[in-house]
Amino acid sequence: MSDPNPGPFAALFEPVKIGPLTTRNRFYQVPHCTGMGYRYPRSEARFRGIKAEGGWGVVSTQETEIHPSSDLTPANEARLWSEADIPALRLVTEAVHEHGSLAAIQLAHNGMHTANRYSRRVPLAPSAAPVGGDDPVQARAMDKADIAEFRRWHVAAAKRAMDAGFDIIYAYAGHEMTLLHQFLLLRHNQRTDEYGGSLTNRLRLFREVIADTREVVGDRCALAVRLAVDELLGANGMQHDAEARDVIEALAEEPDLWDVNLSDWSNDSQTSRFAPEGFQDDYTRFVKSVTSKPVVGVGRYTSPDTMLKLVRQGHLDLIGAARPSIADPFLPEKIRTGEVEAIRECIGCNICVMGDNTETPIRCTQNPATGEEWRRGWHPEKIAPLKTPEPVLIVGGGPAGLEAARALSQRGADVMLAEADTAWGGRVTREAALPGLAAWGRVRDTRLWLLQQRPNAELYLQSPLTAEDLLDYGMPHIALATGSRWRRDGRGRANRLPLPFLDPTRVLTPDDLMHTGAAAVTADGPVVIFDDDRFYMASVLAELLANAGHEVIFVTPAPVVSPWSDKTLEQARIQRRLIEKKVQIIPLSNLADMGPDSLTLSCVYGGPTREIPCATLVMVTARAPQDALWHDLQTRKQDWADAGIKTITRIGDCLAPSLIAMAVQSGHAYAQYIEHDTPPEPLREDNATDAALRLQL
Ligand code: ADP
Ligand code: SF4
Repeated sequence: MSDPNPGPFAALFEPVKIGPLTTRNRFYQVPHCTGMGYRYPRSEARFRGIKAEGGWGVVSTQETEIHPSSDLTPANEARLWSEADIPALRLVTEAVHEHGSLAAIQLAHNGMHTANRYSRRVPLAPSAAPVGGDDPVQARAMDKADIAEFRRWHVAAAKRAMDAGFDIIYAYAGHEMTLLHQFLLLRHNQRTDEYGGSLTNRLRLFREVIADTREVVGDRCALAVRLAVDELLGANGMQHDAEARDVIEALAEEPDLWDVNLSDWSNDSQTSRFAPEGFQDDYTRFVKSVTSKPVVGVGRYTSPDTMLKLVRQGHLDLIGAARPSIADPFLPEKIRTGEVEAIRECIGCNICVMGDNTETPIRCTQNPATGEEWRRGWHPEKIAPLKTPEPVLIVGGGPAGLEAARALSQRGADVMLAEADTAWGGRVTREAALPGLAAWGRVRDTRLWLLQQRPNAELYLQSPLTAEDLLDYGMPHIALATGSRWRRDGRGRANRLPLPFLDPTRVLTPDDLMHTGAAAVTADGPVVIFDDDRFYMASVLAELLANAGHEVIFVTPAPVVSPWSDKTLEQARIQRRLIEKKVQIIPLSNLADMGPDSLTLSCVYGGPTREIPCATLVMVTARAPQDALWHDLQTRKQDWADAGIKTITRIGDCLAPSLIAMAVQSGHAYAQYIEHDTPPEPLREDNATDAALRLQL
């Protein structure tokens, strides 16, 4: 089966042979985590099935633990410890096959990457060493019997995967997360037997597992190998132009497919702040010259022109994607049907990654249906028409307002969207102008383009609305998406009350800097950024000011810069960048007093105070909802009925400031539930252990 496409991107819709199977096009959803895993199997299955529906020729699972000695608890990955895990994964293959796509499974033994917190098995490793992360646990060196047993586990898991209906079975040596990778890496493998030392020896286990798996899959399934071709550690790690090349040369024709990428995960899933589309190309380009087997690679590809170039230039056979397939599960279909402008391009923010890192179902800034496909029944493209469409007025054209307007106009409501500013996008437009965040503007662009196609959507810029205006217009439904503003008074996490000593003439907020740029700083002397927000904002402002030549001092009560950004895999990169920009970092400190040209800092653990110079203080603490309009309207509630107003609802940051992803989700939920008096909660419960699922055994 193939997807016909007569258009300019026809080459992307050619079928590709993968071993004994053929995928219908070149769109390949590589393995990626969802935070749904084995605990929420129906959610997982629906999530993957929708990608197949959207045209991804191959849809893969996330890493799948093959044995209790590879136990990532509390992370919620896929699991194939025993026969009992087959039914949950069968839901996935059925959902993928329903749309004519191939289902791939990434088998994984996590070796010394995990502490086995649930199974309490002693972790296994090539050589005895502490496990990854902070657990005070060491892995033991595997002896020959352990190695033989591991090979049997992999074989057994491959058989179970076939029983579950998978078409492509992976042997996975990547991300420093699996035994197969750890055996390859000199720093983890210090063995002196035939599995250690020379590359030939370090490669032995990988070669054996590939051969074992080949024997199991026969000519029924394809065998894929995932290999990290560079660790970005220079000579201290595996490099694409050194040992990684030797590995691929040595195994060139053994698998049916090479899936190649960077390690570790933070290098593989770099955000748009740190890496452009195609950032892996220079590392993976060589692979096709070494093997005749099809090659899939990733690089946050969202542009069909880029994809076409990769195929035409013989760089890749299959366009791999994790994040672009999350942001838009229908990306292939939109290219096929010539709706390229309608693609919801991934913005490279890694809010999706946060799901896995917080052991909760995945979410996405661009695609509010992500993670809600099963439990709320949301679909990234389809939404039920309203039973009795009534006009809706939305105040505020930021992410919440734009998404609410987009989804409601799709449902058939006449929508009027009013924005006070001269530009659409609200905070997204302001933030996209900060260093490294330009791609975030896509949140606005996709929605605006779709709204502009709709005859039932009227869009008004430079239209600041008052309560009086809203009562005059008399629209039955009003959504207030008026956003938020950064606080100036110091309230945040470390300081729950305003700080009385702040000199307002020397305090700036992120809004001041986003409005005027670095020129908002007028005083000579050091600029101190106080970060109690703890995500990205303070760090991008530090970059902005350092780029403009200011001396910047970064003060935070947290132990590191931007601690929450470890959830988006950015923390180390952010801290490194600030160090490169010569920003002075003072962690574990709160504000205690402000003098005419100085600040007094207190130690969060009660140590001595210290004084630092400060001409300007930028407070990055918390945001206040811009909800004055809401309060005005509350005092006029008695006038609503006469004005024809039925509902007034706050959405997005106006209700509670949060991530952009939450504002988009809030706008979408408003559109979904506008005909409900209260949202239909609780969410549908998804539970791996429920009887119905087990009975399918
Ligand atoms: P969110 O993230 O919730 O979408 P934003 O702060 O990004 O919030 O966007 C809110 C938008 O609402 C801003 O662009 C702001 O200019 C606009 N806005 C605020 N008050 C009004 C108003 N009274 N009338 C029209 N637009 C408004
Ligand atoms: Fe892309 Fe951000 Fe969505 Fe992840 S959350 S898929 S990085 S837009």
